[in-house]
Amino acid sequence: MSDLRNFINALPKAELHLHLEGSLEPEMMMHLATRNNIELPYQSVDEIKDAYNFSNLQDFLDIYYQGMNVLQTEQDFYDLTFAYLKKVADEGVVHVEVFYDPQGHTSRGVAFSTVTNGILHALDDGLEKLGVSSELIMSFLRHLSEEEAFATLEEAKPWFDGRIVAVGLDSSEMGHPPSKFERVFEAARDLDLKLVAHAGEEGPAEYVREAIELLKIDRLDHGNRTIEDADLTQKLAQSGIAFTVCPLSNLKLCGVMDMKEHPLRKMMDAGLKVTVNSDDPAYFGGYMTANFLSVAEALALNKDDIALLCRNSIEGSFLTDKEKQQHLDRIDNIASSHK
Ligand SMILES: [Zn+2]
Repeated sequence: MSDLRNFINALPKAELHLHLEGSLEPEMMMHLATRNNIELPYQSVDEIKDAYNFSNLQDFLDIYYQGMNVLQTEQDFYDLTFAYLKKVADEGVVHVEVFYDPQGHTSRGVAFSTVTNGILHALDDGLEKLGVSSELIMSFLRHLSEEEAFATLEEAKPWFDGRIVAVGLDSSEMGHPPSKFERVFEAARDLDLKLVAHAGEEGPAEYVREAIELLKIDRLDHGNRTIEDADLTQKLAQSGIAFTVCPLSNLKLCGVMDMKEHPLRKMMDAGLKVTVNSDDPAYFGGYMTANFLSVAEALALNKDDIALLCRNSIEGSFLTDKEKQQHLDRIDNIASSHK
C-alpha cells in the first residue's frame, strides 16, 4: 500500500473541487477563535472533531457555517488558503481550482474585498513559493435567493479581470434545483466567466440535466447520481465534461454507506471523465491522497486507473492546452516508469 501511496503522490494532478472554508482544520479554528476573540461552542480540538458526525449534507452545512465565524480578517483568509496549499503541494497537486462562498462572509459583516484579497494573496504565494498554480471560483449559496446571487455577481465585478475566473453553485441541494439560477448563470456567461455547479450529489439525475441544459456548465461537481439516467450518462460520456467526484465526502455525508458501494468505478466504466477531489477535507477526513487511496482500496483500482483519474483532472481543468500537455507528459513518464 505504501507503494500505491507513493505512486499517487508522485503523479501530477489537479484538485477541482475544494471549498476553502472546508479546509478549516479544528486546530486553526481554535487558533483563529482565540486571535479574533470569538467564543466557540467547543472547549477543545477533540470536541470539535466529535461534532463532525454527520448524517447528511444539511447536518454538515450547519457546522460548516458556524465554523466560518472565526474567519474575520484578510490575514485569516490568507492563513486558511496557504495552509491548504501547503498540504496538497506535498501530495503531488500541481494545480487547484478552488471554491469560496463570499455570501457566507458578507452576510455576517466581513467585506467581499477582505475575503477575496486574502485568498488571492495566498494563491499568488502558492505559485511563487510552492509551485502550485491556481484559479478561484466564486460559488453562490443555492439556499439563498436569485436576487442575492445577482447582488454578489455585481459586487464581484472588479475581480473579473482574471482573478475570479468562474462561478459555481453549492450548499443545500434538495429543493434548490439549478433552474433557480438559470438567469444568474446566463449573466455570468455574458461576463465570459466559466461555469460549474454542484448537482446530483443528493439531488436526482434531473438536477444534473438542468445544470447541463439550463446552466450550460463547463464542469459538473459531484454528479454521482447521473448514472441513474442511462440516456444522460451516454450524452455526458460523449461530451467529455469532467465530473469532480469526492469519495470521502460521499461516505461521511452518507451518500454511500460503504466505500465499496461508491459509484466511481461504474462512472469510469460508463466513460465519464471522472476526477477525484476532497470537497471539505478538514470535515471529511482527508485530502487528495486519502481520497485516492480510499477508492483505490475499496474499488480495486490499479495504477492505470489512478493515472487516468489524474489525467482527467488536468484535462478537466481550466489550464491552457499547452499547460495541460506539460502535465500530461509528466503523468505519462511517471506512469510508465512505475509499471
Ligand atoms: Zn462541494
